[in-house]
Amino acid sequence: MPYHCNGHIRHKLIEMYGRCVYCNSSYLELITVDHIVPVSSRKKYGLSFNQVDDPSNKVPACRSCNVRKHNKTLEQFLNEHPGYRNNFIHNILHPKDKSVGLPSPSRGILKLAGVELHAYQEMYF
Ligand SMILES: [Zn+2]
Repeated sequence: MPYHCNGHIRHKLIEMYGRCVYCNSSYLELITVDHIVPVSSRKKYGLSFNQVDDPSNKVPACRSCNVRKHNKTLEQFLNEHPGYRNNFIHNILHPKDKSVGLPSPSRGILKLAGVELHAYQEMYF
């Protein structure tokens, strides 16, 4: 993928969320694009490259979180870092600037990644 494409989505993710969705770090220089379902795991989940490359599978994560998450499922990563679960749910339900217009992570993607939103959380989608 050409660098400018990834740079564009990275910039929009930073505008929309303003932080790492996992640890809440707002040191924006270190924000990277995290794939909720890792690109390397796409076949296991029956997803095409275009599906894992879709903005609905992308969230901003600091370099440290991205490296630690690596090719774990979202559920495995959140289990290893219990404090991150509430951060993640809060950040995707209440982005800093929704007008940026990127889609929130889809429920389908979250379910594949092992995370089910409760009914009261889904109300906010
Ligand atoms: Zn982080």
